[in-house]
Amino acid sequence: MGNTATLPEQQLAKKTSGNTPAYAAQDAKAPLAPFSIARREPGPTDVQIEILFCGVCHSDLHTARNEWANAVYPVVPGHEIVGRVTKIGKDVKKFKQGDYAAVGCMVDSDRTCPECKDDLENYCDNVIITYNSPDKHLGGMTYGGYSKQIVVDEHFVLRVPDTKNLAGVAPLLCAGITTYSPLHHWKVGKGQKVGIVGLGDLGHMGLKLAHAMGAKVTLFTTSPGKTEDAKRLGADEVVISKDPEAMAKLNGTFDFILDTVSANHDINALLNLLKRDGSLVLVGAPEKPMEVAAFSLIPKRRHFSGSMIGGIKETQEMLDFCAKHGITSDVEIIPIQKINEAYERLLKSDVKYRFVIDMASLK
Ligand code: NAP
Ligand code: ZN
Repeated sequence: MGNTATLPEQQLAKKTSGNTPAYAAQDAKAPLAPFSIARREPGPTDVQIEILFCGVCHSDLHTARNEWANAVYPVVPGHEIVGRVTKIGKDVKKFKQGDYAAVGCMVDSDRTCPECKDDLENYCDNVIITYNSPDKHLGGMTYGGYSKQIVVDEHFVLRVPDTKNLAGVAPLLCAGITTYSPLHHWKVGKGQKVGIVGLGDLGHMGLKLAHAMGAKVTLFTTSPGKTEDAKRLGADEVVISKDPEAMAKLNGTFDFILDTVSANHDINALLNLLKRDGSLVLVGAPEKPMEVAAFSLIPKRRHFSGSMIGGIKETQEMLDFCAKHGITSDVEIIPIQKINEAYERLLKSDVKYRFVIDMASLK
């Protein structure tokens, strides 16, 4: 396949490791198409990775189509990256050539703020995300994992403890850590009753993880057709969230609820499910503000919070936890040439539960 587009001029001037094949969106309306990008030569603490698999997150589509109004084109999406180390800088300690390695949503941060010092780079005000962030090395913007290789500082590169199903590991780098982090932070475990709301990609990871942590897990879904699959994935019970009677019966019985819903929904019906001191954590990001009734929170001292991906240390813990419990994402592997079709199917929720690009298809 020809990479017909040209490199941005500012990047040609810098030291790079040559032309890397990639797929990019050139504007909000254009389908993703072949494109050549520059990657830097590894510096002393950098790891160069040949990308083997890259998950397809809904954020990729949001950015490629400029739905968050912050895209700087060309956009090369992809932040669920698994591959093999091809080169390391002289000071790299964690990796050697040939190791499997992974990269998630972040590639740098300021490393000095209180968040970074607490291993929570995901909350650093100066975090550099894997694509569509300013690239301090080459100028322009960072390019993500829909490409053949990437160069990342070793601090932001994860070890892959289980290499049997690399495609299934890729989505752990976003969907996995986004659900693991709140479950872990709020100390979900044995003896607790946990609700997962919405069975999409995040929800399916939430079910697997909460179940492996030992909790009794209930899926709240708007889709009765998902009941069997939810049970296979680790739900002890499935409740249709649009059935007010079924919901009311469970009021005051949950220790923790993880809400992965991407659209506006009745948050008070969910808050009422919590016990005294129970917590509801939002990871799903509906567009519009939600109306929270004071009396959904006050009577039982309930907590209502949010959570965003997870820090690097915690991401490694999550990968180790998943390896120990045999957890990977359910995936549908596609060649990169099908990416535009995959985006259309993603919009119809026609995937169980994550598309993953086999990068061998990108020549
Ligand atoms: P997804 O696969 O589309 O799943 C979302 C699920 O929400 C759907 O499968 C559906 O589940 C439920 N849902 C959709 N519309 C609904 C409605 N109108 N009312 C009630 N339920 C509805 O999306 P995803 O990839 O899991 O992502 C979920 C959300 O997390 C997105 O908003 C995404 O932007 C966000 N996200 C956040 C972070 C973070 O760091 N916080 C990271 C990644 C993604 P049922 O059919 O089971 O009801
Ligand atoms: Zn993502």
